[in-house]
Amino acid sequence: MEKQFQDGNNYPLFMDNNDSLGHFRQRFYLKKDSIYMCGNSLGLATKDAEESILNVVDKWKEEAIKIWNVEENKYHLYSIHLAKLMAELVGVDDDEVAVTACTTVNIHQAVSTFYKPTKDKYKILVDDINFPTDRYAIESQVRLKGYEIKDAVKIVKCKGKFIDEDDVIEAMTPDVALVLLPTVYYRSAQILNMTKISEAAKKRNIIIGWDLSHAIGAVDVNLKSLDIDFAVWCTYKYLNGGPGSTASLYINRKHFDQIPGLAGWHGNKADTQFKLLQEFEHRRDATGWQIGTPHLFSMAGLEGSLKLFKEAGLKNIRKKSLHITAYLMFLVDTKLSGYGFTIGNPRDDEKRGGHVCLEHDEGYRISLALKARGVVPDYRDPNVIRLTPAALYTTYEEVYRMVEILLDIVRSESYKEISDARNMVV
Ligand SMILES: *Cc1c(COP(=O)(O)O)cnc(C)c1O
Repeated sequence: MEKQFQDGNNYPLFMDNNDSLGHFRQRFYLKKDSIYMCGNSLGLATKDAEESILNVVDKWKEEAIKIWNVEENKYHLYSIHLAKLMAELVGVDDDEVAVTACTTVNIHQAVSTFYKPTKDKYKILVDDINFPTDRYAIESQVRLKGYEIKDAVKIVKCKGKFIDEDDVIEAMTPDVALVLLPTVYYRSAQILNMTKISEAAKKRNIIIGWDLSHAIGAVDVNLKSLDIDFAVWCTYKYLNGGPGSTASLYINRKHFDQIPGLAGWHGNKADTQFKLLQEFEHRRDATGWQIGTPHLFSMAGLEGSLKLFKEAGLKNIRKKSLHITAYLMFLVDTKLSGYGFTIGNPRDDEKRGGHVCLEHDEGYRISLALKARGVVPDYRDPNVIRLTPAALYTTYEEVYRMVEILLDIVRSESYKEISDARNMVV
């Protein structure tokens, strides 16, 4: 869709005044004189999340061991409680989602459940630009089954900036048993066509799982209609669950009878769990794939933060996200041309996630110069400044101001005075 934007500083103010999601900003902890553009990496704290975390701290203080029993075992069953808020975001049944572990562990869990290699069908298909933890997990799963990585991990190569869906489908040869791909690429913001790829996998009897980490909370997906096998996602990026907040695992209900690859006592049937029997009997829903005791403090932030998503509606969030990121690209095109910047993400709405990738040969030093001027971007090698105007808390005025700062940095070449020594977390 062609969007009409206007130059000048009245337009962003007009947009902010007419932003139906604008009031959510007050519920976030924003720093004065700082423009936060890093919500795709770690979402900001909300008052709602703070309140729900403090509530769990209070429960611990007041109730001690009884914390597991109060409010009809709410905290013992906290994953189920949170799944009610989470499932809506991906369009599945509540009992198909477990809020548990971290994304990498959930990949291990799903792959160890669904990867049942045979002599003729034993390969796992991945690509070479996904966030690497997914690949590390896949490689160790393949090794655990006694295969050589170079034989059993099949890699779709990225030929330019983006992965071509047809290359993925072409690689789905009869020896492929499972595919794991990201919905949105962390570096380029490319969205893969989940429908096309999922259908192709199903047609070939290949187990298909998606990693929604860079999509969840920014892009609306409907896993039910895709009828895929599993999905995983983290909750500290767009969902604002807090640093290291508990991740999520979706298991298609048609698989509820499958035995979890990594069993643990919190996956045992609720009615016999505390009988502590020596025989494991897994719950016939996604919580059957839980392993140990729920991490209450890492989950509690979600109870607050997910409320905002319910109130705002993901469709509205996606709509603003597409518009405000398009505005950012418009400003880059009109104000920063001639200064060596390239937009590294796809331009099509259907093909891009919630962040904008600004590429520049001096990207690293420019990102440091932005930080020195109060903008918080993040940077990914070799040359990408990732900028995320988050729908729930970023204003158009901030986007405008940030581009003015960028323009000043490149015009004055002030970044050249900055050392490019690296920090451990970039
Ligand atoms: C952020 C992200 C993860 C995070 O994994 P954790 O185990 O939760 O730290 C995994 N995969 C992708 C694609 C991501 O973007």
